Amino acid sequence: MSNASANPKYLWSDGNLVEWEKAIVHITDLEWVGTSSVFEGIKTYRNPEDDRSYIFRLEDHMRRFDDSMRLMGMKPKWNAQQLTEEVLKLTRANGVKDDQYIRPFAYLDHGSATELDRSSHILITNKPFKSTLKTGRVTSAAISSWTRISDNVMPPRVKAEANYRNSQLAFSEARRNGYDEAILLNDRHTVAEGAWACVMIVKRGRVITPPVTAGVLESITRYAMLQMFEEQLGTKCEEREIDRTELYLADEMFLCGTGYEVTPVTSVDRFTVGDGQIGPLTARMIDLYHDVVRGLDAPYDAWRMAI
Ligand code: PMP
Repeated sequence: MSNASANPKYLWSDGNLVEWEKAIVHITDLEWVGTSSVFEGIKTYRNPEDDRSYIFRLEDHMRRFDDSMRLMGMKPKWNAQQLTEEVLKLTRANGVKDDQYIRPFAYLDHGSATELDRSSHILITNKPFKSTLKTGRVTSAAISSWTRISDNVMPPRVKAEANYRNSQLAFSEARRNGYDEAILLNDRHTVAEGAWACVMIVKRGRVITPPVTAGVLESITRYAMLQMFEEQLGTKCEEREIDRTELYLADEMFLCGTGYEVTPVTSVDRFTVGDGQIGPLTARMIDLYHDVVRGLDAPYDAWRMAI
């Protein structure tokens, strides 16, 4: 059971702000929901200077949500722009002022999709979330024995709930074997991504990350980082296939994503990455990303939406 006092006052359900405890569905709606439901993960960050909270790249997340819904055969009743407005309505109604995770979720009316343009329901919730930026956190990773799902099996480029069974298998294997994180290889045996985040390495001053055709979610943070590395840190970036052993021999490595933010990886399969500390470019990106998401005298105004 959820702890009622920890929940915000409202959630958003099919166009209405509904009191958290009053949002219920019939138990039979659970039957096939997991098969074709899709979601988003979005973050808000508090700016301590003006005491407001900012949503990071909300419009981009809602555009990907729309892509996810359409690929799963749903016909959304709200377009990405309307849903952007609805997220603002919800977070304002809940008086969000701190760091939060916003989770839009869509599921088909009656189970799984066997045809296109099926009607669906949309739910949007927000919950507090603790940032790990600038906490000094480092992680160990292992190459998973599980293969990343591929575009012709279960397209990983959209955020379908069912895709996360693949992530769970890899992540729990890594944890059972004493590692913090899993790195999945794709069906071509090159690096795809982490269970819940993208992979980037630094080698001889260049940032390298797998292309969007390598079996990865089309990550919004990934695009943002590539742009920031080039424009703000003057670093050349390459989007290309990465071999497993390139991770072992990388100078720096980190995972990135909405939830993972910038999470340094200091060993892979017990090979020490670089000198086993947070690398210098990774450290600069942690600082920059921290300031950008909070809007602390940082560029990219258009990426933040004030609540
Ligand atoms: N890959 C996977 C499998 C993820 O779950 C996430 C988190 N959404 C990411 C990458 C990063 O995507 P984003 O930057 O859009 O959060």
